[in-house]
Amino acid sequence: MKITDLRATTVTVPLHAPLRHGNGAHWGRFVRTIVEVTTDEGLVGLGEMGGGGESAEAAFRGLKPYLVGHDPARLEELRFKIANPTASLYNNRTQMLAAIEFACLDILGQRWGVPVSELLGGRLRDRIPFASYLFFRYANQKDGSGEVRTVDQVVDHAREMKQRYGFTTHKLKGGVFPPEYELEVYRALAASFAGDRFRFDPNGAWSTEQAIWFGREIEGLRNDYLEDPVFGLNGMRRTREKVRVPLATNTVVVNFEQLAANVLDTAVDVVLLDTTFWGGIRPCIKAAGICETFQLGVAVHSSGELGIQLATMLHLGAVIPNLTFAADAHYHHLAGDVIEGGLMRYENGSIAVPTGPGLGVRLDRNKLAEYAALFWKLGGYPYDRDPLRPDWFPTVPNDRFADPADARQPEWV
Ligand SMILES: [Mg+2]
Repeated sequence: MKITDLRATTVTVPLHAPLRHGNGAHWGRFVRTIVEVTTDEGLVGLGEMGGGGESAEAAFRGLKPYLVGHDPARLEELRFKIANPTASLYNNRTQMLAAIEFACLDILGQRWGVPVSELLGGRLRDRIPFASYLFFRYANQKDGSGEVRTVDQVVDHAREMKQRYGFTTHKLKGGVFPPEYELEVYRALAASFAGDRFRFDPNGAWSTEQAIWFGREIEGLRNDYLEDPVFGLNGMRRTREKVRVPLATNTVVVNFEQLAANVLDTAVDVVLLDTTFWGGIRPCIKAAGICETFQLGVAVHSSGELGIQLATMLHLGAVIPNLTFAADAHYHHLAGDVIEGGLMRYENGSIAVPTGPGLGVRLDRNKLAEYAALFWKLGGYPYDRDPLRPDWFPTVPNDRFADPADARQPEWV
């Protein structure tokens, strides 16, 4: 089988409300690039990558000379063709390689009539549990609903998520407001849902001393882990020496060199595997194997997926034996999807691993066209901007947090 073409389409899918984070906000929508790889046998494999626009689509077009004529089963060859670690120093293509790997695995599963998880060792579980992934939010621009800023709003939002989707693990995304305020919010969550589990992620916004202080304050709660309280392996290592809560990361261990460094001189306990950041589902499985050997924890990271990427996360979660934590997904913040049947459904806080051939999801062409048109209507937006503070940007560590008493709502797009 040979690859004959690839096509990249940028889409914009609305969120229920804008999600605030330590670097700014997701402005009420996710911009993603959908990749379709076609073969001489007429099969079409699907991939997905974060971000998009003319430059992303052109970057994928630029891969065509490497891909046309390539056998989609030759995935190790593909790694060296596209993302050779020495030859591609100047064109970091890891995330694009990931999208192509998803599509090739999808093609192989369709060709052989088996789900991707069967190609990757076979399912150990049929459903993947997810955390609630709570964000501070601005209100929905159309109807003014959905603001999450005060302690009560966070707890009410968590209760609604739990009732609707069945979550028993809650992740709070912080780094928006001063750490003292976010500690109050986190404690209120832990007190409101006794028996559930909790994790907190300020996206490396704090100094090491703030990270140590916060970590000590939450000892004794039902923490899965404290995620990226500070940026950098050395800050994480110093924090870990002084705090009795496991530390997790999706920022400072995102490749094999960093994983090796973390094994030799441990700075984090739990590695959050992202099928895009690591360059595909297969590198995540390799990394999970190394973590299994060294008894480090793993979980599945979310970088803001639509249904195609969610399928990669589900197949990954299905085959790694050491998945001892609920996965993360932004998925329930989406108002729609590009896959047939619409959004995948949560039941009891979990989503079923697709059982159809390949990734087990198919493109809804009408939705793809609708959301592609929405991208060209609205365009992109700066990820690291808070729409209410246009001149603001965070430092690392940050000392320019938002004010939790500021109830203004942005009026934009
Ligand atoms: Mg994180």
